[in-house]
Amino acid sequence: MTDFLLKENAGVWFGFFPRLEALGFTNAFTCRFHGESDLVPDNLNLALHVGDNAEKVLRNRKAVAGALGIDAGKLTACQQVHGDKIAVVDKEDIGAGRTDFSSAIADTDALITAEANVPLMLFFADCVPVVLADPLTGAVGIAHAGWRGSTLAIAAKTACKMAEVFGTDLTRLVAAIGPSIGPCCYEVDEKVFRQGREWESCFHPTTPGHWQLDLWQMNRLQLLAAGLKPENVLAANICTEHNRQLFFSYRAEKGRTGRLSAVILRKQ
Ligand SMILES: [Zn+2]
Repeated sequence: MTDFLLKENAGVWFGFFPRLEALGFTNAFTCRFHGESDLVPDNLNLALHVGDNAEKVLRNRKAVAGALGIDAGKLTACQQVHGDKIAVVDKEDIGAGRTDFSSAIADTDALITAEANVPLMLFFADCVPVVLADPLTGAVGIAHAGWRGSTLAIAAKTACKMAEVFGTDLTRLVAAIGPSIGPCCYEVDEKVFRQGREWESCFHPTTPGHWQLDLWQMNRLQLLAAGLKPENVLAANICTEHNRQLFFSYRAEKGRTGRLSAVILRKQ
């Protein structure tokens, strides 16, 4: 089975991991086509924090929810500050950040929940989205791993938090690494290398003081070190900068762009 497929439903294009779907987890990584936006006209920007027209963003979110058959009223988001704090989404947190950025869970870059039908939704343009699904307990997680989050091992910490809070068996947990900047396009400098040198094999020297960084591999190694099985770490292997017609790319568009949404939930 291919790890990752693209599909269209009700005019919304997205990628997803069929294996997660088969286990009962709706998951999606939205493409940029066919949306409403003042920031990137006609694009499907899903983030409220990038200076776009909020009403248009909310209509885009509604379109995505409709296409996925999920409840837009339960979309739950956090503020994504490139840290490593993980929030447990309980009943009272459901819908945080749904209609405004200020109500999104603050100072947090990863969410986990045991609630069914609660779409955890984070936003990305090159940073690595990692979704986690526990087939035994039905718990899910999502992490925002840019270079800072990746060097903080946020995806692996999120997996471990699921083990701690929900009793997730890490040898059964399935992780999926979504579209994001690939090693082909991601050159970094000494500052990043120093932060991440614990995973030196993910850095490939280019010119003096510069490396190509493989964030996908860094996240994979960290998840394996946490106890996940190699066959349970899936990857889209799609570079957002290479595929900027399909997905937003912060680097390719020099910071002025929208955000794709990554979504995971357990269907009841
Ligand atoms: Zn690339």
